[in-house]
Amino acid sequence: MHPDTLAVHAGEPPLDRQDAPVVPDITVGSASVYPDLASLETAMAGHRGYGRWGTQNHHQLEQAVSALEGVGVSGRVEALAVASGMAAIATTILTEATSGDHVVAANDCYGTTVTFLRDDVARFGLTTTLVDVQDLDQVRAAMTARTRLILCEVCTNPLIRVPDLESLAAVAHERGALLVVDNTVPTPALSQPFRWGADVVIHSATKNLSGHADVVGGVLLGRPAWLEGARALARTFGPSLGPFEAWLTLRGIRTLAVRMERHTQNALALAGFLERQPAVSHVYYPELASSPFCRRAKRLLPQGAGALFSFELQGGLPAVERLLSRLKLIRLMPSLGHVATTLSHPASTSHRGLSQEERRRVGIADGLVRCSVGLERIDDLTADLERGLAA
Ligand code: PLP
Repeated sequence: MHPDTLAVHAGEPPLDRQDAPVVPDITVGSASVYPDLASLETAMAGHRGYGRWGTQNHHQLEQAVSALEGVGVSGRVEALAVASGMAAIATTILTEATSGDHVVAANDCYGTTVTFLRDDVARFGLTTTLVDVQDLDQVRAAMTARTRLILCEVCTNPLIRVPDLESLAAVAHERGALLVVDNTVPTPALSQPFRWGADVVIHSATKNLSGHADVVGGVLLGRPAWLEGARALARTFGPSLGPFEAWLTLRGIRTLAVRMERHTQNALALAGFLERQPAVSHVYYPELASSPFCRRAKRLLPQGAGALFSFELQGGLPAVERLLSRLKLIRLMPSLGHVATTLSHPASTSHRGLSQEERRRVGIADGLVRCSVGLERIDDLTADLERGLAA
């Protein structure tokens, strides 16, 4: 089936009863009830019947995301829905690495991913080396005998750099490590990292996957045996997603293909518009001909690079404040992936945990503004930004 059709149908509950509702019910009970010990035993042995282990809403969401991420991939992939993108990252790291192990990660990952790896994993006896994954020699040099995984993002947030996933997979596999890819920004509508050699794929479902800025959630995906290990860990650690959030995420996925198509068209048009504005010194979007990632993006993301791009204002922080004070339609939000166009200021939000020197090293200036393009008509967006940037 075409992925756009899968987005509409995957995970639909079976038509196994009279008058079944057209959309799934939400299972709000924290546990199920059983008529006798034998049926309780069957449920317990199958890890069913207790909310922390997941409900039908989680399984429907997991089926849908695994169907989308599995398009064109040989062999099966399975998904685990969790409470946030960070829960997906933490569950992945702790499934794969144990005390004494080592992680190699892109230094331009989402800010909290970086701070988690830099500051928090040490308490589990893990070490991390942050590298520029655009430089494969640096990645190779960072690998040790205990490196369990390389972690990177398909379209980095906020500079939308696109790594060479196939080469990173080769480097990881040469050394017996996994390639873990955060596919949050493009979503499976535009990118399926398993096709390029990823072993584990991660989503913050908070963003375009659910798509309406009304959910905090996450998903991790891997081959069945690996994912069973992640499930076992999650049953104990308990990063469980609420059933309503699972339901809302699945509802968002029903329109994922059409949303991402429009987001991508709008993002390219708006990025091109901003490139022509004198107040803007640089625009970061891999589909622009001026981007060093343009060729790679055409190969890895042939249907477009998604809703997110960034631009840098000539006038630094005062120019950012002036722009924000003049906008009428586009609002400031410390997140991305909404139906409405929003702006964010990475130095104050996603990367506030990094020192100014660390931010400078990964190219996040005070005048950098990140834009998550929505579904509005492009003329209304350009009019708002024209007003904001007027001299
Ligand atoms: N990965 C990326 C690329 C993100 O942008 C974010 C959040 O912005 C996360 C992971 C973390 O997701 P969450 O906020 O759902 O924990």
